[in-house]
Amino acid sequence: GLTTKDEDTIASIVTGMSHGSVAIIRVSGTEAVSIAARVFRPGGRFRFGWQPQSHRVYYGTAVDGDERLLDEVLLLVMLSPRSYTAEDVVEFHCHGGGVCASRVLRSLIEAGARPAKPGEFTLRAFLNGRLDLAQAEAVMELIGARTAAAADSALSGLRAGVGAAVSDLRSRCLDVLAELEARLDFDEDLPPIDVPELKCRIEGIQAGIEKALRTAHAGNLLRTGLQVAIVGRPNVGKSSLLNAWTNSDRAIVTEVPGTTRDVLEATLSVGGVPVTLLDTAGIRQSSDVVERIGVERSQAAAAAADIAIMVIDGATGWTDADSDIFRALWGDGPGSSTCKVKGLALLVANKDDLRVPRTDNGVGATAAQSRSNCAASSACASTAHSHGAGSGVSAEEPPLPLPLLARETFAAVVRTSASERRGLEALDSALLKLAGAPQLASGGMSWSVNERQAEALVRSHEALMRLAESIAADMPLDFWTIDLRAALLALGEVSGDEVAEEVLDTVFSRFCIGK
Ligand code: GDP
Ligand code: ZN
Repeated sequence: GLTTKDEDTIASIVTGMSHGSVAIIRVSGTEAVSIAARVFRPGGRFRFGWQPQSHRVYYGTAVDGDERLLDEVLLLVMLSPRSYTAEDVVEFHCHGGGVCASRVLRSLIEAGARPAKPGEFTLRAFLNGRLDLAQAEAVMELIGARTAAAADSALSGLRAGVGAAVSDLRSRCLDVLAELEARLDFDEDLPPIDVPELKCRIEGIQAGIEKALRTAHAGNLLRTGLQVAIVGRPNVGKSSLLNAWTNSDRAIVTEVPGTTRDVLEATLSVGGVPVTLLDTAGIRQSSDVVERIGVERSQAAAAAADIAIMVIDGATGWTDADSDIFRALWGDGPGSSTCKVKGLALLVANKDDLRVPRTDNGVGATAAQSRSNCAASSACASTAHSHGAGSGVSAEEPPLPLPLLARETFAAVVRTSASERRGLEALDSALLKLAGAPQLASGGMSWSVNERQAEALVRSHEALMRLAESIAADMPLDFWTIDLRAALLALGEVSGDEVAEEVLDTVFSRFCIGK
């Protein structure tokens, strides 16, 4: 089984199979050095005798069982316990391209190694105590990270993070359990339990669990990202907005063509969240048919998105044509049977640079005045509701007049100017706020718990709630220990302190081979 360590020496190509100039094969286990010695022929001064030393690199060749040359290689030796798995590890650095590495790997397997299973190197690191379970998961997240912030979060998880925090909570639970069990065993000899003090300790543990759980949502966003559809009638500046947003220095991926010629997809990092923007580009009202296709595309894009951003011309304000698009997407409003959009919605009033703000007496301000108000207006992402209520809105920033249904649909209105690249930060924070992770806007995020860990934490929290109820109901002590044990078990699943084979199975089966 997975939890019991086997004595096999395992080997696998640990670099991607395609196109690299170097391919690395990792061999790990008690026989790593002797198996490697059957395949490796040292060159230079080691030709006449070779006793590998830890953390040294050797140059030579790799051969098969018939001493046929397979590749020129560099050999890296890392002896136990100073290696990734804490076992003896030998790495063959071969020429890339796949052929050399596959032949050397086959030779190593003929020499006695077994092909490694997915995640098996990391599993061994875990079983040998080099990593806790949360750290092992962080390794996988690090490999899969799509933005620097996601990688940073995984790295801090790898350094101490979740496992250490949860181990601490777990040992505090263990202390409580030990005291309760002592009372069960030697009731007469011990002073009575200080119940208020006990409650206080349990609340402290619960608070720690809640704190860890609060990182889950933002962490999940960092890992999975957001799909954002940009919709709106032609010429309001959807494509310009997408370009302004992705061409900013936060862009991480250049524009790639989508599945159809008319849908553009671009990815950018918003507060570290990988955001995929879908723009229904290139749609023009040249004929009814094209227009209909355009609407259908917008519907499809918006239906699939986590968040739909509807763009209107902020200079002219909401028009009947906007109402048409709105109806095509939201029908009779969110939640109605005619609504196509499942996710949340933001309204962007673009072309703010062309807007002539109205003063209180309804007279248009000058262009110069309008420009001087720009900075303040673009920083404001106040909600449609507060606009509608007229509260907290300055006199220079009148609410954008919207139909009632639109006002109820859009969680926020952001004014932008795609051509002057203004309002993009406000758009960032409105998006993160809407996605439920406003803390990411400030860049304050270290480790976070993943879904599996969150699920176990929720179970431990529930068990502690039951414990609090048992205490309040004055139940016998054995009931208390039952709940406490359940909490301990769940916490142990996070750090890997006490873990069932199925849990390890699910964690490590998500790894790829070679990790
Ligand atoms: P789309 O059809 O909604 O994708 O709109 P485009 O992005 O193609 O823009 C339509 C026109 O509006 C182009 O001529 C843009 O240069 C212009 N435009 C886009 N955004 C702005 C803006 O913020 N201010 C001004 N003044 N013009 C803009
Ligand atoms: Zn466009």
